[in-house]
Amino acid sequence: MNESPKLSPTEVDPWRFCKDGQSWEIRSDVAAFPRLADEFTQGTLLCRVLGRVNQRGSLSLQLAVSGEVKMTCQRCLNGMPYTVDLERTLYLARNEAEMERLDALPGSDAIQAGETLSLVELVEDEVLLSLPVAVMHAEGKCPV
Ligand SMILES: [Zn+2]
Repeated sequence: MNESPKLSPTEVDPWRFCKDGQSWEIRSDVAAFPRLADEFTQGTLLCRVLGRVNQRGSLSLQLAVSGEVKMTCQRCLNGMPYTVDLERTLYLARNEAEMERLDALPGSDAIQAGETLSLVELVEDEVLLSLPVAVMHAEGKCPV
């Protein structure tokens, strides 16, 4: 195991980030993500977060993460390729009630945001949520 330098959390004020239409983008080795380094053995992820305000004044983060990585097959423990390709729109909610209201809208997800938000942790959360419960080669396709 080689110790790569981990990414810093990259904390932003999420409200300002959206209002100002800021963006953040990194391309990084999976080993640099503190919580992804255990899931992915190899690969590079391209991450992009854009802050937005829609016509109704709702603030959202548009998140896109993509890359080719390697995971460990849970049946044979060999490496297997896995493609990360996710796009999400996350509305910022100030409290529980606002979060329920936003979550109820079709095709929308909300996160309760405080004064600061770590973009690296946000990306990690969404990538971890998108992973299948058990990662395995197709039936009978494990290398012997
Ligand atoms: Zn396998």
